[in-house]
Amino acid sequence: MLDRAIVRVLPAFPRSLVRRISDRYIAGTTVADACRVVKELNDQGKMATIDVLGEETRSRRETLDIVRAYHDVFEAIERERLDANVSVKLTALGLNLAYELCRANLLKVVRHAGESGNFVRIDMEDSSTTSETLELYRELRDEGLENVGVVLQAYMRRSLRDIHALASLRPNIRLCKGIYVEPPLIAYHDYEEVRRNFIVCLQELLQTGCYVGIATHDEFLISEGKRLVAEHGLTHEQYEFQMLLGVRELAANRLVRDGHRLRIYVPFGEHWYDYSLRRLQENPKIAGYVASDTLNRLFGANSR
Ligand SMILES: Cc1cc2nc3c(=O)[nH]c(=O)nc-3n(C[C@H](O)[C@H](O)[C@H](O)COP(=O)(O)OP(=O)(O)OC[C@H]3O[C@@H](n4cnc5c(N)ncnc54)[C@H](O)[C@@H]3O)c2cc1C
Repeated sequence: MLDRAIVRVLPAFPRSLVRRISDRYIAGTTVADACRVVKELNDQGKMATIDVLGEETRSRRETLDIVRAYHDVFEAIERERLDANVSVKLTALGLNLAYELCRANLLKVVRHAGESGNFVRIDMEDSSTTSETLELYRELRDEGLENVGVVLQAYMRRSLRDIHALASLRPNIRLCKGIYVEPPLIAYHDYEEVRRNFIVCLQELLQTGCYVGIATHDEFLISEGKRLVAEHGLTHEQYEFQMLLGVRELAANRLVRDGHRLRIYVPFGEHWYDYSLRRLQENPKIAGYVASDTLNRLFGANSR
């Protein structure tokens, strides 16, 4: 209860405190920070996907800054021989400014990735962007670009239909539960219903022969994922698990130890605030723990 209350008032906290609480989820503010974290992950047998933080850009110039930042990331990945691809948010590339601007920016990023044999995952954002995101993904594939994948969210009632609509492309899909607040008309809210739809969607994707990034920290879904890939007779190279930086590291290590491919989502950049709030809202316990620890220390200091 207290944890949830703390999370609700987090936006009123000083940014420095939110930063301290959310440190574990973010590699840092620079490409060098991201590279350092990815190297550590690679040394532990984990792959990475690097995200330049910066959703909802407000001008064409800001979108170009994001494109440039991805170019720097590709150069760093090559230079430092990292086992990493990238994840992009279409609102950061200008989706809410103009579809064509976003398309042009996305093309630049995907083509640059292709030059070094790299891959771009298009994150899925809130439901106002779902149709355009899938449309852009299809357009890129229709142009012959293969080094691009997209995300489907198991809480969305439409996801199974989307899988059927995309099936002929044999898409590379990250399947996750979904993090944005959506109305019940379009999204499942019940925890078990989301889990059920996750399994139904995963089954359908594997049946269709898609490469799937099974993105979850939910122990039940991880074991269902293992069961389903075994049932489909897949080798470890034909799928991967995915997790977020700073979340359930013991479970992540277990997956690697058992021989599964695991990719960690590594966000970095100056625009860490919105991402941090979402992560903390997912896990109020962390906010509660760090906030009370900080207050205790402040209180202790004042009382001396
Ligand atoms: C690699 C990756 C990429 C993603 N990309 C997208 C995307 O493009 N679009 C989108 O809408 N969502 C995305 N998500 C977020 C996802 O939709 C879920 O919100 C998130 O993964 C939590 O769901 P879960 O399956 O882990 O299950 P949950 O039931 O939420 O979590 C299971 C357990 O994991 C732990 N846990 C989960 N989250 C946290 C946290 N933040 N801090 C600490 N512990 C935690 C807790 O122990 C929890 O009990 C992504 C997730 C991952 C792993």
